[in-house]
Amino acid sequence: MICSNCDTKITFLTSLKQPTPYRYKCGNCKTRFKVRTPGMNMFMALVVFLFVLLTVGMMNVYFSFGMLLAVPMIVFMIALWMIIEVLTHSFIMEKGVFSPIEERRTEMNV
Ligand SMILES: [Zn+2]
Repeated sequence: MICSNCDTKITFLTSLKQPTPYRYKCGNCKTRFKVRTPGMNMFMALVVFLFVLLTVGMMNVYFSFGMLLAVPMIVFMIALWMIIEVLTHSFIMEKGVFSPIEERRTEMNV
């Protein structure tokens, strides 16, 4: 995926900085894109569901067995999150349709 405004490649690092997989901001020229990816809603719903389950599980482990056993779970969740970020990125790069969002320039986009 290449930014249609400045021809900068949208890298994984750019992906990582996006708050949602539905909006992208070019790391170079700050152009915003609306991203439409088929199946993304389903994917995000699954991810949210998975993390709610894991968080509940982790809280249970924490209150039953203490921090010692909760830490590996937190590490696992962070590792899983990274894997999901990589998956989301390659998914969007492959299937996502980027369309620039026209907006008024404001001083907030620094
Ligand atoms: Zn750009």
